[in-house]
Amino acid sequence: MKFSELNIPSDILGALEKMGYEEMTPVQEAAYPIIAEGHDLCALAETGSGKTAACAIPLIQKVDPELNAIQGLVIVPTRELCIQYVTEIQHIARRTSVVPFAVYGGFDKDIDIAKLKHGVHILVATPGRLLDYLYSGVLSFKHVKCAILDEADELLKVGFLEDIEFILSCIIREHQTLLFSATMPEDIKKLAHDCLRDPRHISLITERKAPTSIDHYFTYQHPKDKQAALIKYLKEEDVKQALIFCNARHMVDKMFASLRKDFEDVGYIHAGLSQDKRTSVFRQFKNMKIRYLFASDVAGRGLDFSHVSHVVNWDLPQGRESYTHRTGRTGRMGKKGKALTFVTRHDLSDLRELIGRNEISPLWIGKDPLLANNTSPERKARNRKRPFRPNRGKGKPVAKP
Ligand code: AMP
Repeated sequence: MKFSELNIPSDILGALEKMGYEEMTPVQEAAYPIIAEGHDLCALAETGSGKTAACAIPLIQKVDPELNAIQGLVIVPTRELCIQYVTEIQHIARRTSVVPFAVYGGFDKDIDIAKLKHGVHILVATPGRLLDYLYSGVLSFKHVKCAILDEADELLKVGFLEDIEFILSCIIREHQTLLFSATMPEDIKKLAHDCLRDPRHISLITERKAPTSIDHYFTYQHPKDKQAALIKYLKEEDVKQALIFCNARHMVDKMFASLRKDFEDVGYIHAGLSQDKRTSVFRQFKNMKIRYLFASDVAGRGLDFSHVSHVVNWDLPQGRESYTHRTGRTGRMGKKGKALTFVTRHDLSDLRELIGRNEISPLWIGKDPLLANNTSPERKARNRKRPFRPNRGKGKPVAKP
């Protein structure tokens, strides 16, 4: 279905056209009418599905620009998601007089307060900063008509259920509440039960597997050869933008320092950087000023970088979800992407599990260590027949080769 088939005002429709949004995504088709009609919503959906616009379009329509007060509230778990969310609203609302604004930890409070005093219609915020402003009386939710809890499962990892419930309890007037989550554990069900009124439910999670719009390459390397292999790979590939994930911050720093000698537009991001620096790197990467970004998992969840053509796992991701989240930064909205994961001999048992559980068909650059390590049925049979020979000398018993 096309956006033009809906009853969307021309200023919003024009902005959507400019953004290249013509056809609605499945989440947008399912969620838009529910939100527009004013129902509460409990949606199982992930980033990458178009859920931001699904909420932003009707939310902008609900705002009365003449009323100088916060009318829409969006709560998100991280600072980066906060910036991403508010940017999407800004783009969609650019031809209207609706004012969106984001508040998140680490940003200058005086600027926040001045902007809030001047007038904000839609506030996007992380829970910590929001609580801070609620306790100090900086904010008023007197006119909030619609509250959105985005990535609710992640929200409950960074804040407490009681905090979120407290924030929502500060909205005194009757309002609409929308909850989006990628999973539905018990605490999210409780949150939905406590905060939503007669909600409509939609589920748009297809599978929690690695995305299929991506070719999953792997390469088996000796640790000391990894860096040369990475440089060769990045130079040979047609890289529009690459996100290179490391498991530890110090490795991000180290890789950035070494690779900036070989490449010009390199950057790095991890939770150890100041908020200003993180925001600036995040924006530069979004605006294509950085081509190769070294990152810890801080950049792995939820963030949408639509130009990323390659994701590299310098270290094997820890846990199945991490592989899915990292590689999901490429191959967005049906585009084709490539993921390359470096494997060393220490990773082999984790690798088997990762490939099996994510149902990946790995494409090996160089040798496939899992094949090399496979013991043939004949060899297994020989091993079974081999008699145990106690060690006649000193030390541990040894099996004969
Ligand atoms: P989200 O799930 O909201 O983070 O959106 C994921 C990506 O899809 C973002 O890059 C959006 O700009 C893009 N997007 C959202 N809706 C549409 C649409 N209807 N057509 C094309 N791109 C879209």
